[in-house]
Amino acid sequence: EDIDTVASQRVSGKGEQTRHRTVKGNLIVDEGTDALGQVDLDVNAQRTLHGLVLKVHGVESIVQLADGRIFRCAVRRVLKNMATDQRHVLVAGDKVMLLPEGEAQGWIVRIEPRRSTLSRSSKQRRHVMVANVDQLLIVTSAAQPSIKPNLIDRVLATAEQNHLDACICINKCDLIDASALQPLIGTYAQMGYRVVMVSAAMGWGIERLRSITRDRSSVVVGQSGVGKSSILNALDTGLKQRVQAVSLENQKGKHTTTTAEVFPLSYGGSMVDTPGVRRFQLWDILPSEMSGLFRDIRPFASNCRYPNCTHIHENVCSVKDAVADGRLD
Ligand code: GDP
Ligand code: ZN
Repeated sequence: EDIDTVASQRVSGKGEQTRHRTVKGNLIVDEGTDALGQVDLDVNAQRTLHGLVLKVHGVESIVQLADGRIFRCAVRRVLKNMATDQRHVLVAGDKVMLLPEGEAQGWIVRIEPRRSTLSRSSKQRRHVMVANVDQLLIVTSAAQPSIKPNLIDRVLATAEQNHLDACICINKCDLIDASALQPLIGTYAQMGYRVVMVSAAMGWGIERLRSITRDRSSVVVGQSGVGKSSILNALDTGLKQRVQAVSLENQKGKHTTTTAEVFPLSYGGSMVDTPGVRRFQLWDILPSEMSGLFRDIRPFASNCRYPNCTHIHENVCSVKDAVADGRLD
């Protein structure tokens, strides 16, 4: 979708530079002579390989092939021209085709259409942080620090906004009496979200979490100290070290806040766990959109008398009625 939109805006009318460029469906083919003059420009050429962008670092992208090989790639000029001031044309999680040059380098010649994205918006501009995400994995802890339902709600709203699944993972269940959490778990379960009680320390719930994350792309979200690193390590040995190495690297570098990194899981699927993504804020949601992003509130909100009802001070309000007589938490 992104590529098409941008292509239709950019490919036309750039004169000389774009004359030989054609857009065939989602396939962007440069039929002219490349400035570098070395590479075969046909993206259907047999030499091209399929890969997953693990991270984008400046002009270089780290791409992993299905067989595990890593390639450092630059983006072909024709694709790079589609980048705008606000964003790079490529993000972590993108599925690409690359033209290898040597054993570990190559050119990205095609970006597959994105199945989904996780974006943050600032100053009314959408900034895609990671592509092809299936779900948000919300990590909280039952104690130390105590569970914060309003943080969970924020992430759920963002998941809805981005059309992503969400799974709520409550860690450190070894520290509490599980029955104390049942009402809260029931509320989220009724909204259709999976809730997993976990103890990374005891190994509880890890197998279930593994099956929830297997062959899917999950973004880890949660405040510090809840046990995200411990969970990652319990799920897949060595993952914690990989994530920590990147965090250190990020502290030194300048791409700290917005660069996401995808970590392939040994049992299939991938995790995105990046400081900038972790420090979760509510991303530019308009007050009027808010109630529509909560699965439980949404059906009641549509019955409110005023279309712009805030469900706070209005005299006649279906949401407030539903709360008052216990139909809504
Ligand atoms: P992160 O900041 O979210 O990555 O959290 P860490 O994985 O670093 O864990 C924070 C602290 O919580 C550490 O001291 C862990 O040992 C502790 N911790 C993690 N998981 C559990 C758990 O399941 N039970 C208990 N009791 N402590 C845990
Ligand atoms: Zn209302």
